Amino acid sequence: MSAGPFPLDELEFDNRFTRQLPADPVESSVGEPVRRRQVEGACFSRVSPTDVASPHTLAWSDEMAEQLGLDAATLQSQDFADVFAGNRLPAGADPFAMCYGGHQFGNWAGQLGDGRAIALGEVIDVDGHHQTLQLKGAGPTPYSRTADGRAVLRSSVREFLCSEAMFHLGVPTTRALSLVATGDKVVRDMFYDGRPEAEPGAVVCRVAPSFVRFGNFQIHAARNELSVLGQLIDFTILNDFPHLVGGGRPIDNTVIAEWFAEVCTRTAHLIVDWQRVGFVHGVMNTDNMSILGLTIDYGPYGWLEDFDPEWTPNTTDAGTRRYRYGQQHQVAHWNLLQLANALFPVTQDAAPLEAALNGYTETYRRGSEAMTADRLGLARFDAGTDEALMTDLVTVLRSTETDYVIFHRRLADVSIDPAVSDDDLVAPIEPAFYQATEMVGEVRQGLVSWLRSWQARVGRDGRPDDERRHQMDAVNPRYVLRNWLAQQAIDASEAGDPSKIHELVEVLRHPYTDQPGRDGYDQRRPEWARVKPGCSMLSCSS
Ligand code: AMP
Ligand code: MG
Repeated sequence: MSAGPFPLDELEFDNRFTRQLPADPVESSVGEPVRRRQVEGACFSRVSPTDVASPHTLAWSDEMAEQLGLDAATLQSQDFADVFAGNRLPAGADPFAMCYGGHQFGNWAGQLGDGRAIALGEVIDVDGHHQTLQLKGAGPTPYSRTADGRAVLRSSVREFLCSEAMFHLGVPTTRALSLVATGDKVVRDMFYDGRPEAEPGAVVCRVAPSFVRFGNFQIHAARNELSVLGQLIDFTILNDFPHLVGGGRPIDNTVIAEWFAEVCTRTAHLIVDWQRVGFVHGVMNTDNMSILGLTIDYGPYGWLEDFDPEWTPNTTDAGTRRYRYGQQHQVAHWNLLQLANALFPVTQDAAPLEAALNGYTETYRRGSEAMTADRLGLARFDAGTDEALMTDLVTVLRSTETDYVIFHRRLADVSIDPAVSDDDLVAPIEPAFYQATEMVGEVRQGLVSWLRSWQARVGRDGRPDDERRHQMDAVNPRYVLRNWLAQQAIDASEAGDPSKIHELVEVLRHPYTDQPGRDGYDQRRPEWARVKPGCSMLSCSS
């Protein structure tokens, strides 16, 4: 370890969560094995990261570093790797793991908690906001159950890349500051087929104003710990929703109902965004739902390639496909209902909670209509015509394997001149089709006729063409974190070369801007990736 003084000791910590909420009285001592157990009557347990062999920084996010006020020299220092692998605690840190529960795949699973994520504490960023720094893969905690508290490089690369990609796409998300290789091996049975392998380990430093999940509230409701539950509700409203309690307004049932309604609204917008960019979370358990409406816990997520609303990337979900693309909005509603059930013991007033849940459905519907209008370049959604336009589009997209992202991006290039020939009409979107030979006969006719209706519909708005194109390009990304691109970056990093991660982050920083010379990044999934693990399907093993 290098000698101080350390710039990271200048980070300004203000650890509200550990200062204001009830702690597990049992503290795990450094050097002694952490005892896995049920933690009752507490929101968190103090626990320190366990040292790793040889921390080595593979990547960081420039934007996040800047937000935290970290300069280039600090980012390149060995101390940065040491701190963000968990080998050295910066001054002011108060490391802890949160207690939460959750419904997994629809069933109550009891206590889960941060089994491998350890928060260092909350730091004040350059704008004066609190940001929790959390190390994922930092070693065992009381919540690790039978697992090791570690994370493998492949899943850490995926979390790092996707958090940053989502941020630049404008989708609410937890962020990633850094990706540090640990130098240790982690054993995982990736295919759950009894062939465990030693893989390189890593730690991602995640950053968010709060990592509180629906499950944080659920666990106290399930245990009938109403005082702790009340404290966590108050804490969350005061710190993360302060606009609801301006002027010293006391937290009563009305405020709690307004807060829950806001969680519903934020969640609705989140799902609209996921659907827009073609993101499938893959494990929408209630412990993976952020109270701030952020995308949280990047596990076996995936991006739609050919448009298939039935698709789920998660092999564990292959049976019922509960978390498939086209069902994410319903699952979010179900999850919000579980949160409402957890709040009810405190408010004893179901009506406002039900109203908020209905509000979710309405906000999602309106959001999704507005999003459809933007994506298709319409001045506004007109239910009279546009519902049919949407339904017909789904039929067209499913008539032959069609790349979801390429289709929408290229649609902006299709001429709205009714005099254009069928060939010229279709030409801009040809790159979206996986089976070019199928683009004949009825399939082609279906596409042409949809494009003609779309032309007519856009024409009716009578708007300047560049205005329409601008509107479409601002919501239909050209570059997303295609599953096979992420896998290529993982393969190279596992072979010791992190440069593909850096390239990918660079491209994904400007997802809506055409980047000449970066053609490889906006292509259809290549054939080799169709069946390759990591590209087409993922297990939860991480
Ligand atoms: P996830 O499916 O990633 O949301 O994780 C569900 C639960 O399992 C959470 O409580 C995690 O903290 C815990 N968990 C997942 N992987 C590990 C691991 N390697 N060690 C300890 N706990 C883990
Ligand atoms: Mg989780």
